[in-house]
Amino acid sequence: MLKSNRIRSEFLGMSHGKASHKLRKSIMHHLAKKVGMSACYRCGEEIEDIENFSIEHKEPWLHVDPNLFWDLDNIAFSHLSCNVRAQRRPLRERTHCPKGHPWDKENTHWAVDKEGRKCRECRVCDLERWHRRKEKANRARRIKRLRRKGLSLRQIAEKVGVSHVTVKKVTDPR
Ligand SMILES: [Zn+2]
Ligand SMILES: [Zn+2]
Repeated sequence: MLKSNRIRSEFLGMSHGKASHKLRKSIMHHLAKKVGMSACYRCGEEIEDIENFSIEHKEPWLHVDPNLFWDLDNIAFSHLSCNVRAQRRPLRERTHCPKGHPWDKENTHWAVDKEGRKCRECRVCDLERWHRRKEKANRARRIKRLRRKGLSLRQIAEKVGVSHVTVKKVTDPR
């Protein structure tokens, strides 16, 4: 952190960045009230409390369109609590897996988990996981082969490009 920034933060009792963000929000809340725009987009009630004042996107922009992020017509004020509640969409209404792959017909397959619940699985994630596992197995084989040739842990680590803790784990599993 820059020295001047640290001095500011100490004086404010919070990080200067956080304070600036708070101030901007406070100004926005003040102006919204002044022009009669301080009703919650979700519930229609007045947003009195600055702590509960939040700015949100009406239409989700992520994975949809970056322009929606900047579109001022897509911005609304709401109670933070109303906003958070609205974000918690049921699983079946979500359009993308947590990694951002589309939940379409081709990319979705259904499985049953340990508790017997039906769950949605992403094929791209599955494939990526499979590749990672395969890579890991190949690497382990290579490490073991080098170990049999009599190379030291450090030499193997350098050759394979992993830490020597990894090499140790592979060659000396416990
Ligand atoms: Zn509300
Ligand atoms: Zn995925």
